[in-house]
Amino acid sequence: MLDIFSEKYYFSLLRIFLNNGVYYMAKKQIVRMTHQREIILEELRQLKSHPTADELYSIIKKRLPRISLATVYRNLDILADNGHIQRIELGGRQRRFDGNPMPHYHIRCNVCGKIADVEIYDSDIKEKIEVDIDLSKVDACGFRILGYKFEFEGLCPDCYIEIEEN
Ligand SMILES: [Zn+2]
Ligand SMILES: [Zn+2]
Repeated sequence: MLDIFSEKYYFSLLRIFLNNGVYYMAKKQIVRMTHQREIILEELRQLKSHPTADELYSIIKKRLPRISLATVYRNLDILADNGHIQRIELGGRQRRFDGNPMPHYHIRCNVCGKIADVEIYDSDIKEKIEVDIDLSKVDACGFRILGYKFEFEGLCPDCYIEIEEN
């Protein structure tokens, strides 16, 4: 018999995210934290690089040599679905993951697809980005709008240097 009190359960409570003026609501769910899932979460939280599943897999493999790529993929999806981490899907690029589940801004390199966090210290700029759009006045070809994202794009330091040098 499964005794939930004997296992490590994490409650992902009803969360309301404010992301660029749009409220998102996450489902209330109980997620069982398996040992593998815990290690995946721990490693991802230590990274600032917003890695792809493959990049994370090569790191996890050092701690869990027998883990498969499919298991890493599956656990990342479960963690993202429950709000422990963020799944970043921008511009049709390979999906990346962020150990920080709180809303924050990202910049994407147009050349290599690398993603980094963007800190905005000026409250004026923040206010201009986080505008409350009246969605009733937006026609999205019949789509029901659930949210919208603001992202920066540019060149990462490595790609910038390479372009400068050539
Ligand atoms: Zn780059
Ligand atoms: Zn981030």
